[in-house]
Amino acid sequence: MSVIPLLPLFHRFNKQFFDNSLTVNQEPLVKVRWSDNRLKTTAGFYKRKKINGVIDSEIILSKPILSKLSNREIYSTLCHEMIHAWVDRILKKNEIHGPNFLNKMNQINEKENNFQISVRHTFPVERRELKYTGTCKNCGEKYMYRKRIKNIACKKCCKLFFNGSWNKNCLILFDL
Ligand SMILES: [Zn+2]
Ligand SMILES: [Zn+2]
Repeated sequence: MSVIPLLPLFHRFNKQFFDNSLTVNQEPLVKVRWSDNRLKTTAGFYKRKKINGVIDSEIILSKPILSKLSNREIYSTLCHEMIHAWVDRILKKNEIHGPNFLNKMNQINEKENNFQISVRHTFPVERRELKYTGTCKNCGEKYMYRKRIKNIACKKCCKLFFNGSWNKNCLILFDL
């Protein structure tokens, strides 16, 4: 699995969204790296430890999860973790997805058109596509579904003819 280098992205976002506060003399304040192939429970995380009074912190992105997704998800996850780093190292606040995090997240989401950050650390399983067409046997209206559903009625007809309640005269039928 090949993955894109994270450091150039880190510098780009640092400049764009964090006023370069996450670097000191061009050196990142936090390490940024890809995980090995085992990190499968979260798309990314931020961790910090204190060694002899010196804070050592790191952003790790999941190679197995993100290498299967588009760059947009990589950008969004990296930015998410950079906000954690910023809240911790710059604001020195002890919060997870608290008010400072959310403010920054919303600010970035407003400026950014290519990707959006959320408070999730995982990505939902891709939704199945809408590949089944059902047709109302009363009005002929067509609806799209992810799977065939038994005994559902056409909303439009139910409203129009049956006071909004289910009726077998406007069942939606699926082609095989
Ligand atoms: Zn988070
Ligand atoms: Zn209908």
